[in-house]
Amino acid sequence: MNRKLDLSIVVPLYNEEESLPELAEWVDRVCWENKLSYELIFVDDGSTDRSWTVIEDLKATNPSLTAVKFRRNYGKSAALNTGFAMASGDVVITMDADLQDSPDEIPELYRRIVVEGYDLISGWKKERHDPLSKTLPTKLFNSVTRSMSGIDNLHDFNCGLKAYRLEVVKSIEVYGEMHRYIPVIAKWAGFKKIGEQVVKHYPRKYGKTKFGMSRFINGFLDLISIFFVGKFGKRPMHFFGTMGALSFFAGFVITLWLVYQKLAAISSHTEYRDVVDQPLFYLALVAIIVGCQLFLTGFVAELVSRSSSERNNYQIDRVI
Ligand code: UDP
Ligand code: MG
Repeated sequence: MNRKLDLSIVVPLYNEEESLPELAEWVDRVCWENKLSYELIFVDDGSTDRSWTVIEDLKATNPSLTAVKFRRNYGKSAALNTGFAMASGDVVITMDADLQDSPDEIPELYRRIVVEGYDLISGWKKERHDPLSKTLPTKLFNSVTRSMSGIDNLHDFNCGLKAYRLEVVKSIEVYGEMHRYIPVIAKWAGFKKIGEQVVKHYPRKYGKTKFGMSRFINGFLDLISIFFVGKFGKRPMHFFGTMGALSFFAGFVITLWLVYQKLAAISSHTEYRDVVDQPLFYLALVAIIVGCQLFLTGFVAELVSRSSSERNNYQIDRVI
């Protein structure tokens, strides 16, 4: 019988050879004890250590394990995206491979999606076991993301441990450093019931963190682009067109005013500089040219967004 699975557990990993056997065993024990059918999806993000060999060995004895390996390191978002595409369980859980997240949280996460009807439950590492150099920027990141996204009930957007309804992961796409904003992306896609669960967090047992300061900076840049695309992505002309029109109009009004001054001076026989001798005229000229450029940019962006398939990826709420 081909029963639908309760859970797909997606684990992105990059050089985590030491943790994998323990993680697979722990996940299996928790699911078995709680009578949850599951598949464990390891996405090897181009590891250069023995991770893949370890996975092959595990696969020999664990029929619930599926794994894919990238040719090179594409980043955590790409790994998650691939895991999302492969997932088929009613509930999809993501967790880090390094045993910092606890598989013991799985049953409660599952329950909140299935019983309480959440679209997404994000873990909150309330007591973190990471150095201050990491927790401080994270605090800042979380408060900025909270205020920009309007998702004010989350404290820990970037927690690797999260649970989703299957439909959610099938409706979103993440790349670059966007895994940090999955709740935001899910909200943009129309999934509003987003909750949080305090989860245990252990210090890293083996290996070392893969994320440094530069990823934080890239992360902030991604945040700006996500918001921009989310707000104007479908109709870029609304943004560029408005800016262009304002700039053009400002330049036009200044020019008219200069011409009017000159005409008034002529009619009253007073001395007044020619329009083209006024510095203000050149400012107006720049504003007019910039206005036209913005308009053209909007036009090109509109063409690009029309040709992208994403444009038709509207989320259907229900069908009767
Ligand atoms: N990871 C990945 N690709 C990368 C970097 C990290 O798949 O390019 C995985 C990593 O193996 C781990 C998870 O993403 O399973 C979180 O990474 P890490 O533990 O280094 O992050 P931290 O806990 O320090 O935030
Ligand atoms: Mg970690």
